[in-house]
Amino acid sequence: MNVEIISVGTELLLGDIVNTNAQYISKELAAIGINVYRQMTLGDNIDRLVRSFEIAFERADIVLTTGGLGPTGDDITKEAAAKYFGQEMVVDQESWNIIEDMCARYSGSRDRIPKNNIKQAMFPKEADIIPNKNGTAPGAVFKKDGKRIIVMPGPPREMKAMFKNSVLPLLIDENPDIFLSRYIRFFGIGESGLEMELLDILNKQTNPTVALYAKEGEVMVRVTARAREEKECLSLIERKIDEIKAISGKYIYMIGDDSVSESQSEMEKLVGDLLIEKKKTIAVAESCTGGLIASYLVDNSGISNSFIEGCVTYTNDAKVRRLDVKPETLEEFGAVSSQTAEEMAMGIAKTAGTDIGLSTTGIAGPGGGSQEKPVGLVYIGLYYKGQVTSIRRVFTGDRRKIRERAARTALNEVRCLLTDD
Ligand code: ATP
Repeated sequence: MNVEIISVGTELLLGDIVNTNAQYISKELAAIGINVYRQMTLGDNIDRLVRSFEIAFERADIVLTTGGLGPTGDDITKEAAAKYFGQEMVVDQESWNIIEDMCARYSGSRDRIPKNNIKQAMFPKEADIIPNKNGTAPGAVFKKDGKRIIVMPGPPREMKAMFKNSVLPLLIDENPDIFLSRYIRFFGIGESGLEMELLDILNKQTNPTVALYAKEGEVMVRVTARAREEKECLSLIERKIDEIKAISGKYIYMIGDDSVSESQSEMEKLVGDLLIEKKKTIAVAESCTGGLIASYLVDNSGISNSFIEGCVTYTNDAKVRRLDVKPETLEEFGAVSSQTAEEMAMGIAKTAGTDIGLSTTGIAGPGGGSQEKPVGLVYIGLYYKGQVTSIRRVFTGDRRKIRERAARTALNEVRCLLTDD
């Protein structure tokens, strides 16, 4: 089934609002394996909209529209759909009763309902009307000769509820297949780097489909399979994940069956769980991250047996006094150096008596960088079982981003350590 999306509204063309409706619908359709080959955005012009239906139906089975269902003259979506199908619009009494009730509740009197509101209750008798529980404009399925135009209101809250409750079930019903997705989370590789690595898989994808999403400081890949049965879906997904693992496995830190926390990293939760599960204790000494790592760890309930202590040792003096960093180390290599990071990690583990000592020291910017030590340069120290190591990274972004990326990279070091342990 091919679906095209037409977003109606001059505000969209003028750049006054962002087209989040099209993004939402596309994402939802992709998740159930429906192809969206084209999106169009149009202003409030009936002839151009009718023409866009002609263009869309050159290859689509269904056209979804949002916007232009309001009571005023420039709301023309239904009129354009009716014109395209050559159908006459008449008042649907049931819709009008609902709209009247809604307006009366709002204005306090039936007499004050603007006459033009009746426009929102007008549909061709061939259309299936979709009630709108969150606003006055109902949606509808306009249909003729196997073609369908499904019109939905513009306000995202109204559109989303209508899409989820009425439109999506209709699309799913027509499709006997089931869809399952798995989400792979990558850390330590950027979106374009991962795209290059997985180019072959991305280019040849059919079933399962593979989609790449850039998240804050990490990348997520969604693998969606379509089949008659769950077992078949899972085996298709598993095979695809194995292919992905073979290429970019070293960056994968989590594979899950939901994308609930899509926008936020799962790193802190994963590291928290690992520390608790493996009964390891940790203390952190932070310079440039200024307590972020400690804060991320404390986001995990039940972490108190594992997370023992966090110190923000921002000045050289604090590093010496609190962590036993040698003044000569600071003198010779500077505060932002692998040597200092390592002594910090060792110092915090020793003084806190923990299994793991983790440290950060770097230049979060925007000032303070040099050719040799640029803004974004961060050293992360890690102490474990008498061994201390450090890594050097140069992060991009503003001060906040650099600090967040450094903190999550530090946690990723702990993840790698505990996974291999
Ligand atoms: P109403 O009944 O409220 O007039 P409508 O269906 O006619 O709704 P529009 O008038 O086109 O919808 O848009 C109403 C509001 O909904 C816009 O001002 C905007 O805030 C939001 N909106 C419309 N289209 C989109 C879109 N594609 N993406 C995000 N928001 C949108």
